[in-house]
Amino acid sequence: MNSNIYSRIPKVDQIIENEKIKSMLEINSRELVIESIREELDDIRKIISKGDITLEDLDNRINKIYDNVTLRVQNTMSPKFKRVINCTGVVIHTNLGRSLINEEVMKYVSNIATKYSNLEFDLETGARGSRYSHLEDIIKKITGAEAALVVNNNAAAVVLVLSALAKEKEVVVSRGELVEIGGSFRIPDVMEQSGAKLVDVGTTNKTHIWDYERAIGEETAALLKVHTSNYRILGFTSSISLDELVELGKKKEVAVIEDLGSGVLIDLSKYGLEYEPTVQDSINSGVDVVTFSGDKLLGGPQAGIIVGKKKYIDMMKKHPLNRALRIDKFTIATLEGTLRFYLDEDKAIENIPTLRMLTTSINDIEIKANKLLHQIKNCIKDKLDIQVVDEFSQVGGGSLPLEKIPTKCIMISSDHISVTSLERKLRENEIPIITRLYKDRLYMDLRTIDETEFEIIIDGIKSALQNI
Ligand SMILES: *Cc1c(COP(=O)(O)O)cnc(C)c1O
Repeated sequence: MNSNIYSRIPKVDQIIENEKIKSMLEINSRELVIESIREELDDIRKIISKGDITLEDLDNRINKIYDNVTLRVQNTMSPKFKRVINCTGVVIHTNLGRSLINEEVMKYVSNIATKYSNLEFDLETGARGSRYSHLEDIIKKITGAEAALVVNNNAAAVVLVLSALAKEKEVVVSRGELVEIGGSFRIPDVMEQSGAKLVDVGTTNKTHIWDYERAIGEETAALLKVHTSNYRILGFTSSISLDELVELGKKKEVAVIEDLGSGVLIDLSKYGLEYEPTVQDSINSGVDVVTFSGDKLLGGPQAGIIVGKKKYIDMMKKHPLNRALRIDKFTIATLEGTLRFYLDEDKAIENIPTLRMLTTSINDIEIKANKLLHQIKNCIKDKLDIQVVDEFSQVGGGSLPLEKIPTKCIMISSDHISVTSLERKLRENEIPIITRLYKDRLYMDLRTIDETEFEIIIDGIKSALQNI
């Protein structure tokens, strides 16, 4: 009986004679198609060996071989890393790629990446140059720092700074600043990696200047201030300002380092957001070294930017770790292109997607929301209950944790279909549409949706509804 069943499965030689498979063979390698056929046949044999399939179901499954093989081949050939539509309203969404890069900047990057470039070539002397020189001048100009260096990300920047300045020495940090920043970036662990010895002072909610002062001794290399980017301790609290720390560092002749995290270069309180200390503020206070991310509030590529006194930056440039953490030409070009906008604040707000989304007025968002609402209503009739509601967007990326920016969302509910299934179908769309589900309602925040994406969203909803 069993061996009889197996004989219903066509042979590879027969399968490749099928028209659908033949057309697959025309555009794909023979190995890939044959491999996909074998996988499909293996699956069928597994189903048979479990013994719970009727002959009729088995024949149906066998009839699907050609379509399934085609799907397998297409799936193998299609990129797994792809563009999505962010309807969550979280602007710096770490899971969805953090900062978006301006398209003009990407054209410039494309030209650099697809052609030869002066990456490490000095066009004046014709001799070897430094890859960092392209960025250093513009970072100095924008931040007012004496020197600058860029590495792979901010976590790497902190490791490099501590390794270069404080290996086997002590670094004093407030207990209130021993933070974990998503993933596995924990300040105490990072310090251990760098070989610096952590001396934590004060308590979770209060640290005084004399806490730092008492901790400074022969072995102290630096005082470290960590910007608690992703949380706030509220209530009975006090921490030391950077100014006070800089004054103490000068008096005791130890370096003062600040891990700013987000790295804002524009005072965003002018645009109605909560005040977040800028890199320029830190430099003005006289701090020795500041580190910050390239792809958080700065709105550029993943990078860790280190600015500060030349004496210290030079130590990092020469440090062997710097070679391991070095950035590639894509990062240099993308960061340079993004930073160029900062030479004119209005241009930065207008052209850097992260800043533009964060500062879009509620009026503009409402106009967009109503437009999308009408377009969706036009094509779905009465299946869904859909309206525009007041909601809050988040900055994300562990930046401005308490900031809730008023926004407008499309809210979808339904008595006919499961909104949970709708969320899943949208997520499985060819261009995935990522929405927020809350209490059986689906939300789409117009702050992070561009009008050019409306068509994709409407088509996505239409095809989702056909398949629910
Ligand atoms: C985000 C953050 C980091 C890590 O930065 P990455 O660029 O993501 O590596 C480190 N320190 C602080 C304070 C941060 O907010």
